[in-house]
Amino acid sequence: MKRDTVERGVVERDAVESDTIAAVATPPGVGALGIVRMSGNAATAICDKIFRGKQTPSQAQDRSILFGEVVGADRACIDQVLVLVMRGPGSVTGEDVIEITCHGGLLAPRLLLRRLVEEGARPAEPGEFTKRAFLNGKMDLAQAEAVEEVIRASSDKALQVALRQLKGGLSRELEGLERILFEWLATIEANIDFVDEEVEAVDLVGLAGALDGVAHKIGNLLRAHRSGKYLKEGLDVVVVGKPNVGKSSLFNRLVGKDRVIVSEVAGTTRDVVDDLVCVDGLVLRIHDTAGMRRASDVIEEEAVRRTKDAIGEADLALVVLDGSGALEPEDCEIMAEVSAKPKVIVANKSDLPAAQDWAGEQHLRVSALKGWGLPELMEGLAGLARAKIGDLGYEIVVNERHAGRLRDALAAVDRAGGSLQDRLPLECIASDVRYSLDCLGEITGKKVTSEILDAIFSRFCIGK
Ligand code: GDP
Repeated sequence: MKRDTVERGVVERDAVESDTIAAVATPPGVGALGIVRMSGNAATAICDKIFRGKQTPSQAQDRSILFGEVVGADRACIDQVLVLVMRGPGSVTGEDVIEITCHGGLLAPRLLLRRLVEEGARPAEPGEFTKRAFLNGKMDLAQAEAVEEVIRASSDKALQVALRQLKGGLSRELEGLERILFEWLATIEANIDFVDEEVEAVDLVGLAGALDGVAHKIGNLLRAHRSGKYLKEGLDVVVVGKPNVGKSSLFNRLVGKDRVIVSEVAGTTRDVVDDLVCVDGLVLRIHDTAGMRRASDVIEEEAVRRTKDAIGEADLALVVLDGSGALEPEDCEIMAEVSAKPKVIVANKSDLPAAQDWAGEQHLRVSALKGWGLPELMEGLAGLARAKIGDLGYEIVVNERHAGRLRDALAAVDRAGGSLQDRLPLECIASDVRYSLDCLGEITGKKVTSEILDAIFSRFCIGK
């Protein structure tokens, strides 16, 4: 049975537009350098018109750098620049690409862009360079989306994972799944189309095993989606404890600035305040809370309600006890409130004499006032965070869009497995397997509509 007898999702890539696009690729604001990029058939010819140097860009070899000046229509110098010439199809977009490095700041890059537009370039839409790279087959859609993940990564770990994706991590996983589904679909369709001829019968046990295996792998990718969310958005850590145990002092220490007012007046923090900390390559969003106490007025009631909400939504908890006081029933109530969460318990105020023997408690001794025990506390939180992320499978970026299509693919594979068990006709199984292939194809862009492409690339920044 040859593979090409199976009709498969056609690659629906738009015809690549041939006009030449240009954009400032560096963020606006004062900086040492600015970069203006251009891609398209006329890139070198347009650059010839604005550049004065020993050699013209259109004469330059692929991947060469020219030093010279960008000049106005009146030939007056606008800026001194370096021009990087990259020729298609080997360039990042697959077309001729010019990158001009000029001085930074608000003016030079904008004046350069204006000159390029005057000479025939069109200002690029958001993400249009990457879109062209996709349309010209330089990368698949999941890789193109990773470009944005790389730019927006907020921790070392998230960056590492995004870079792996850029090199095709998810795409390789999906290709493996597609190959399995595709080959089984070929066999099934041969059995449907050529019933009367001598076609090898479908090995139903083998098919059931294959569907199970694919479902398992898609489940892993969906778990990676959840851990990816942690990497991108961080894990929520809620700081809880009685009033006055030093929660706000500890919060300020952890986030490294005085975000919250610290006072000996119990109940100063009424709202939940949060800030980000990066620890061991991971992002933690620490939430300081009002503390759990019996409410004596409406505002306090609301504060306690918000604290409870923050506990409910948190991934991890940091329980603060007053190490200079005795353990009280209120502490135990708080402990019960976070019993289901992974947590670090600290006895704060270790600079003061301990009022009770804490030897039996699983806790770290810290002093927010003196800064004692903070590295151990950070490590404790990082350890919990790593365990939480590690639980959720391997490190591949699966964004919301991918997760949606993976869920659909999984449901279809599960349906196919159910049909097989119920001994339904092969047509039912074939249609679900085909649908799951379509879903996977939408992730890598083998089968994707221009609406989906527009929606994806419009989220990119200009110049990318
Ligand atoms: P919260 O109500 O739990 O947020 O507690 P705060 O951070 O507002 O602190 C309450 C009081 O305890 C303030 O007077 C702090 O200066 C004091 N405090 C906080 N941490 C320590 C500590 O480690 N040692 C000592 N001696 N005092 C502390």
